[in-house]
Amino acid sequence: MARDTFDPVRSLAASKHTFGEHGGVNLSIEASTTFTVMAASTMPELFAGRRTADRDGCYLYARHFNPTVYHLGRELAALEGTESGYCCASGMAAISAAIMQLCDHGDHVVASRAIYGGSHALFTDFLPAKAGVTTTYASITDLAAVEAAFTPRTRVLFTETLSNPTLEVADLAALAAIAHRHGAALVVDNTFCPVMITPAIHGADVVVHSLTKFINGASDLVAGAILGRADFIGRLMDLHTGALMLLGPTMDPRAAFEVSMRLPHLALRIAEHSRRALVLATRLDEIGARVTYPGLPRHPQHAVMKRQLNPGQGFGGLLTLDLGDRDRAYRFMDLLQNHHRFGFLAVSLGYAETLMSASASSTSSELSDDALAAAGIGPGLVRMSIGITGDLEDRWAQLLDALRAVGAVA
Ligand SMILES: *Cc1c(COP(=O)(O)O)cnc(C)c1O
Repeated sequence: MARDTFDPVRSLAASKHTFGEHGGVNLSIEASTTFTVMAASTMPELFAGRRTADRDGCYLYARHFNPTVYHLGRELAALEGTESGYCCASGMAAISAAIMQLCDHGDHVVASRAIYGGSHALFTDFLPAKAGVTTTYASITDLAAVEAAFTPRTRVLFTETLSNPTLEVADLAALAAIAHRHGAALVVDNTFCPVMITPAIHGADVVVHSLTKFINGASDLVAGAILGRADFIGRLMDLHTGALMLLGPTMDPRAAFEVSMRLPHLALRIAEHSRRALVLATRLDEIGARVTYPGLPRHPQHAVMKRQLNPGQGFGGLLTLDLGDRDRAYRFMDLLQNHHRFGFLAVSLGYAETLMSASASSTSSELSDDALAAAGIGPGLVRMSIGITGDLEDRWAQLLDALRAVGAVA
């Protein structure tokens, strides 16, 4: 997909223009787990893959392909500029299935050292023990270190577009070039940057999402997606060797319908999360708070971020504030939630309200102390997913008041 011709907003809108079964403006929920064939001789053709859901509209069984789940996969593929896609039960299901599909026993992964705690645990603890797949971590902004970590068995280079929680920006085109030079696939977790950045147009082979976050936006369901080339998505559903088919982290069609209903306002939400986060981050920076936000010109990868951004979406809804030590971070968050009602002390992100947590003692607590230090996740680091509710000036006053109360700014 050529960069200058791809627009995720237009692409998604085009895929959205479908009719429900009875001509409804919304798609219908296909709740069946099994599907009839009109002739007995069709059944073996389905099992042999000679008739397929995408080509012939033939469905077999809902763990294989369900029409509503498949429809959401096509919408997300349109959003991400990939040929195909399928959805699954969670972001972790998407990541683990994609990696298990690409790696055999004895293969190797190079991963960014600053990734979601669950992904870190998957690579560090689960995959070596259960599948004989090992991982070497590198700083994703140090391209020489990334390339040096490759071995002849490296099959995957794994990164987040914007790292959780340190907000380092991956240079996707440069990383794709390194991966492809070594015959490996670039797998990108784009959970923090839907609509904002389209990894596939920068060379990513596989894009994974936790739909639980911005894409769904309501913090009311857990879901994931894998987007990529049609042959790869087909391999995930292979009856003999498909990771999604056989590990079975199936998405319920009702959940697929819910997520699909939130896609039309995804770009509006992201733009507003971004607008507010930029205002707050800029003011925090001006008063000397230790804020990290990719939209600030002094962010080390600000230029890389700008170069990769699609127009109109801003720099995203996440910022971090380093309060120095854990106790101060805790007092700061307690005040913001319980006194100011600024937001919620909760993990996750992409909700309408602001969500905040101290990463080292929550979503990154799977990392060892050394790994936390290497990733730059200090004990006082507070990650904030800036919400879109309330008056922005009130929010700023609340934030400033809490910072002053804990002595973080004068
Ligand atoms: C939350 C998250 C995941 C895991 O997603 P689930 O839907 O909770 O399984 C993976 N990657 C990132 C960047 C996340 O924020």
